[in-house]
Parts: sequence; structure tokens; C-alpha cells
Amino acid sequence: SSSRSSVIIVGAGISGIAAAKVLAENGVEDVVILEASDRVGGRIRKESFGGVSVELGAGWIAGVGGPLSNPVWELAAQFGIRTCFSDYSNARYNIYDRSGNIVPSGIAADSYKKAVDSAIQKLRNQEEEEEEEEEANDGHGHGDDRNDSNRNNNESKRPSTPETPVELAIDFILHDFEMAEVEPISTYVDFGEREFLVADERGYDYLLYKMAEEFLFTSEGRILDNRLKLNKVVRELQYSKSGVTVKTEDGCVYEANYVILSVSIGVLQSDLLAFNPPLPRWKLEAIEKCDVMVYTKIFLKFPYKFWPSGPEKEFFIYAHERRGYYTFWQHMENAYPGSNILVVTLTNGESKRVEAQPDEETLREAMAVLRDMFGSGIPDAIDILVPRWWNNRFQRGSYSNYPIISNHKVFHNIKAPVGRIFFTGEHTSERFNGYVHGGYLSGIDTSKALLEEMRKEKERKSESQSLL
Ligand code: FAD
Repeated sequence: SSSRSSVIIVGAGISGIAAAKVLAENGVEDVVILEASDRVGGRIRKESFGGVSVELGAGWIAGVGGPLSNPVWELAAQFGIRTCFSDYSNARYNIYDRSGNIVPSGIAADSYKKAVDSAIQKLRNQEEEEEEEEEANDGHGHGDDRNDSNRNNNESKRPSTPETPVELAIDFILHDFEMAEVEPISTYVDFGEREFLVADERGYDYLLYKMAEEFLFTSEGRILDNRLKLNKVVRELQYSKSGVTVKTEDGCVYEANYVILSVSIGVLQSDLLAFNPPLPRWKLEAIEKCDVMVYTKIFLKFPYKFWPSGPEKEFFIYAHERRGYYTFWQHMENAYPGSNILVVTLTNGESKRVEAQPDEETLREAMAVLRDMFGSGIPDAIDILVPRWWNNRFQRGSYSNYPIISNHKVFHNIKAPVGRIFFTGEHTSERFNGYVHGGYLSGIDTSKALLEEMRKEKERKSESQSLL
């Protein structure tokens, strides 16, 4: 098959769909969307489990109630998505030790303060190191007295390391979830500190469907437009001054003037895509510099509820001597009363570990943890769901995780087009990377940049034509 289109969009997650919508609104309708999986949504993905719809990927609309309005929150309101306010503030008072005792609030508060202070100190030290490195790179700073005294300061202000299970648990929560108390995060600064859990049977991806409905042909809840091609795994992008040729795993070839590439940072770091010619060095280096976070929500279904419920008990913490070992728990009674579902969140190393083992093993581990907290009399879970974002070759992780002190140039280079290939996705959003609204806004941004480029190209063509 090979008729040339204006734009090929690789990936039908929120950024790809937002990009396509902006193009359509600006009159660019001969677009082809190639999606590797059999569905739209990407990292927004529901699955039915234990009688309700659970979100394996993005679950919250983060950043609500602030000076600016979160565009994803607006969409959710417009389309009537059901949400539930999440109050994390009580989590630190629901810490269980291994014998099932709730850690006294005084001890919890002290450990919390210690962890926050230490995180802030760590950050300051990093900032100083960064500055010193920059000075050294500039050729200054050698033999500089001021610099030496800085270094001594670092030595004396070494952050305390978390030691007890409670400190480890809080350190995990701070670094792998919140950090907002340590560092201003643009999502919370701009859009507000409130977070709402999507608790809608139609799923978070209903947002994407409603967006798609405005420019793609849909019927009875399905997208039936032949510009959206599912199960098309892009393997090669061949680009030149005149256009881009895209080859898929099933041997199809598509041609276009431009490509918008929305695959995740994890996919860019993997060898799924071949570029011909290879991507330039500055691009590859920027891609390598961005870390990938793995974040896994494990769902457990029980015959009945044995945990304390109520809004202030929604989140609870398990303190174990191994950092991140089944630490962060949530009950789903606020979202879906009577569902008898618990969710435990693992990250990075622990995520990779459970992805590699059979689910029965993970179930055994989780049950042992729950019996530590709630006693041996509790019933076994009757079902478990373990998402595998790391081993999914169309994802290779959950979201981008830029170093907190990361320089603007890395973002710029990750986002910058290479010839006729434009980059988009959550990881290209300097302010909101890692979030659904980051993906959404990046898609809009990239399409606007592409439209501008198309306008310039047209101008250049008509100029050279009038010269003839
Ligand atoms: P994606 O959704 O990944 O879209 C890219 C698409 O490209 C995918 O559909 C993929 O299948 C496709 N693709 C990949 N390779 C190819 C190929 N070779 N050929 C064709 N297609 C390809 N954000 C929040 O705001 N709140 C949260 O609570 C939250 N929690 C999260 C929890 C988890 C477990 C995860 C995984 C993510 C979470 N996020 C959350 C982040 C949020 O989901 C993402 O930032 C956002 O959905 C990314 O959208 P995207 O369009 O950039 O990428």
C-alpha cells in the first residue's frame, strides 16, 4: 500500500490523538495514525477486574485547584468523567509495622520531617555539585578558594540516610511519589495540589475516544476511521529532504511528507525503531540522559473487606526493612464501594522483579505482607492483576523521569525535530513530563510546530515557483 499522506503519526496515545486533532482542526486531514497495539490510549488503559473497571496506567488527574486550569481536568468535566478526590495527607498516619501495629503519629511525624529535611539537603548538595561541574567545565573554578570551601560545606551537611523501616517507607513515598514537599513541581504549582482518581466504568480512555470523535469516524463507541491503523508496529523510519518512508513489522510501507513520533522514551532507548540515516549524536545522547520510571499498580480482589475503610484510611503504608517492598497501599472503597479491591504500588527494581515472576508468587508475597498488617485470619485474595509496563516492548517503562536538576538543553534536544521527523509525547514536555496533561499538551505543541514548518515549506515552494 503506498499513497503519500501529509503526516504519519506513530502512536495513538493521548499525545498522538491530540496531535492528530490539532492537524484536523487546521485542515490537515490526510493523516495516517499507526498504532502498534490493538487499541488507542497507550499508557491510559483500563481493564475489567473483579467486577469493576481498573486503570493499569494513568489513574489520576493530577494538578487541580490551582491558579491555572488543567486541560485534562477540563476535558474530564466536559465529557462527564466520574472522579474521586484522593487525600494522601493521611497516609503517613496509617503506617503499619511488621507486627501489624500502627506507628504512633509522633514517631511518624518525626520520621517524615527527617526524610523531608534529608531530601532537601540531598538536592542542595546536588545543585552545588552541578554548579561546580559547570564552573569546572567553563575552565573556571580551578584553585578557587570559594569553591573549596563549598566542597567542605557539602561534607559537613551530608544528608542523613533512612535506616528504620518507617524511615525507609517514608523515603520511598517521598522520592517515588511526592517530592512536591521537597521541590516545587510545575504540575502542582500551575494547576494546584489536588489529585482526582478517575473512577469511571468507561475508563480514563473515554477521554481519548471523545477527542477522537471530533475528527475521526466513530460508531457505537468504536473508532472505525481507516486513517487509524491498529496492530501496525513501526520498525523503520527512512527520512530524506523530500519525505519519510515508514515500514511496519507486517511488511507495509507508508509514505508521508512528515512524521510525528509519539513513542515513549523507553521505546526510543530500545532497538524497536531503526532510523535511516541514524539519528544524530546530539539526539541519541539526549535520549540516553532521560531515566525511565517503572510504576506498577497491582490489583487484588478479596471475597470481603477486612481493612479499615473511610476516606482518611484510603492510603496506608507498610514499613519493611527492604525499601519499596509492598510499601504503598490503597483501598478502592471510595472509588468503587463494595468492590473489595486493594491496590499496592511497586516501582523500578521491585516492579521489574515482580514482572519477571509468576503472578502466583507475587500473590503469595502480597498476602504475607497483608497478614503482617492485618493478622493471619484474613482471607486469601481471589484474583490478582499485575501490569507489565517494563516488559511491554511498546512501552519499556511507565514514564520519563528527568533528573530533578536537569538542564534545559536535554529537553530541547529530546523534543527537537530531526529532518522531517517531529517528536512528541509526555517526555517532550518540559513542564509536565510524566503526566497525562504533559502528553496532551505536547501533542498540541508538536502539531503547532509542524503546521508552522508546513506553512514555511509552502512559502518556500511558491517563492521558487514564482522565480521560474
Ligand atoms: P503513550 O500513551 O505511551 O502513547 C504512545 C503510543 O505509541 C502507544 O499507544 C504505543 O503502543 C505506541 N507505540 C509504541 N511503539 C510503537 C511502534 N513501534 N509503532 C507504532 N506504535 C507504537 N499520568 C498522570 O497524569 N496521572 C497518573 O496517575 C499517572 N499514572 C501512571 C501510572 C502508570 C502505571 C503509567 C504507565 C503511567 C502513568 N501516568 C500518569 C503517565 C501517563 O500515563 C503518560 O504520561 C501518558 O499517558 C503518555 O502519553 P503519550 O501519548 O506520551 O505516550
